[in-house]
Amino acid sequence: MFTEEKRQIITYGCLMDRYQLIALSGGNLTMRMPTGEVLITPSGMIYEEMQPEDVLVMDLDGNILEGTRKPSSDTEGLLYILRHMPEVNGVIHTHQPYATAVGLIEEQYFPVNLTTLGNVAGGHVPITPYSSPGSVELGMDTVRYIGASKAVILAHHGVMTVGKTLKDALYTAVYMEEAAKCYLAAKAAGVPKMMTEEQVRQSAEIFQFYGQDHEEIPRELLTRR
Ligand code: 13P
Ligand code: ZN
Repeated sequence: MFTEEKRQIITYGCLMDRYQLIALSGGNLTMRMPTGEVLITPSGMIYEEMQPEDVLVMDLDGNILEGTRKPSSDTEGLLYILRHMPEVNGVIHTHQPYATAVGLIEEQYFPVNLTTLGNVAGGHVPITPYSSPGSVELGMDTVRYIGASKAVILAHHGVMTVGKTLKDALYTAVYMEEAAKCYLAAKAAGVPKMMTEEQVRQSAEIFQFYGQDHEEIPRELLTRR
């Protein structure tokens, strides 16, 4: 069942590694199928070595429909997110060091400093209180704190991103790491400037036209001086 989608999950897992969002088997990926089943990565396996049959097919109640591996240790929290966010079909959990470091120095949220972060996250990225890996609280806190964002920083642990698709969730994680690197570099050298709400809104609007699948950006959306 779902061999192509399982391959895609593994490809994205390898990309998490390539973009330095995880080390070894850290993090996990979850994809909801249009028919309601959920694909979840197995616990503690290196993405490069993972085979499609290692990825589990589960239902929203946590029953295994296909697969013999032990599912991700975060499964309870991940399924909680899917049950409470019906518009979300892709969830990515990472241990990306720079964004996680922002969670060690900020109290409530990672403020938007780059257009890319604003585009994918939609605004400030909230920081949740600490909960242990494997706890359902990690999912409950994601739902509770995420608000209009597409990501949260899990204190002392990592990042959870959500998207309409798994690709959206991956883009958010990667751009967030880029923005976090910039933010911390700027903070080490001075006081970083943040974007205004209007700049974030404008940039997000322009981003709707980004890439090959969309028309040219309407000129009236762009800054004119
Ligand atoms: P799993 O390999 O069990 O998914 O655990 C990785 C992780 O990041 C736990 O929070
Ligand atoms: Zn983790």
